Amino acid sequence: MEPFYQANSGRYDQDIYQYCGKSGLKLPKISLGLWHNFGDVDAMDTARQMLRTAFDMGITHFDLANNYGPPYGSAEENFGKIFKKDFQPYRDELILSTKAGWDMWPGPYGDLGSRKYLIASLDQSLKRMGVPYVDIFYHHRPDPQTPLEESMGALDSIVRSGKALYVGISSYNAEETRKAAEILRTLGTPCLIHQPSYNMFDRWVEDGLLDVLKEQGMGAIVFSPLAQGILTDKYLSGVPADSRVKRSGIYLKDQDLTEEKLKKVRALNELARKRGQSMAQFAISWILRQPVITSVLIGASKPGQIVDAMGSLKASTLDEHEMEQIEGILNS
Ligand code: NDP
Repeated sequence: MEPFYQANSGRYDQDIYQYCGKSGLKLPKISLGLWHNFGDVDAMDTARQMLRTAFDMGITHFDLANNYGPPYGSAEENFGKIFKKDFQPYRDELILSTKAGWDMWPGPYGDLGSRKYLIASLDQSLKRMGVPYVDIFYHHRPDPQTPLEESMGALDSIVRSGKALYVGISSYNAEETRKAAEILRTLGTPCLIHQPSYNMFDRWVEDGLLDVLKEQGMGAIVFSPLAQGILTDKYLSGVPADSRVKRSGIYLKDQDLTEEKLKKVRALNELARKRGQSMAQFAISWILRQPVITSVLIGASKPGQIVDAMGSLKASTLDEHEMEQIEGILNS
């Protein structure tokens, strides 16, 4: 018989949680995303081990979407299988999220932001995961063709139906975010959280979005904090066979590994070493300096990468001199 999973009894020894905006919901400073490495093409033993490692270290939040895989839907299905075996007794200790907004099924109702798509997609996600509700449901990207009132109205209905406890938006710009938050507030369902990309090489959120989140009392969970692996030491001496570039190569390609970027990572890696951090830890510490950011949403292909990321929470905050050095490298 399979050994029964018993979560580490010390998983809450470290207080790694902070309130998500002005809500009463706390999220771990590091959360785990299932975009890659949980699909049908991936090793289920590793996937299961990663979820256990994360939860054993106090990571209470797992992030999914309808189209994670490949194929689409398979990350939710695989998560559902692992959840059933390992995590059912811990359901109330977990924050599960999913999303809809990108292409999911053929025809006019399987993409973007209509009420029809968002509600049907969440129903499908719940079936795949085998859970009656998720904690957070997101509109995955803005849809310029659908009235914002319709997409936000769907999120409000979803909360009222009990299929999600909170709602959020992803990749909306500052102005769209303000409007979405105002509509949701009027409907009586606060917008809990925004999920934008943010890392040392991708800083668009600094140009207005973070201010709007603060003004609206929303939290933020940022995706691709390691630029899909570029902001680690992984590509500093070639492209390893087990890397995202080699294994998947769709969202992160060889040509993304420019010499200009790698030169910067080499210099950043030197600074990281001086602080006694790995490059990945350094990149995470840099993000967590922003008080409006509730959680850093990492991806991982091995349990060790989750352990490495968690090490960043033990480090001191970056001082002014270190921040100046980082800016110098990034602007060089
Ligand atoms: P990251 O930037 O954290 O990249 C993760 C990848 O970096 C890993 O798969 C691994 O790649 C590599 N890596 C991670 N840790 C280390 C380490 N310590 N040392 C060396 N390499 C490391 O995030 P993702 O791009 O994966 O995004 C994270 C999550 O954000 C997703 O799972 C998803 O939940 C969410 N997301 C949301 C989007 C949205 O539109 N809302 C869009 C994209 C992501 P390797 O395989 O090479 O080992």
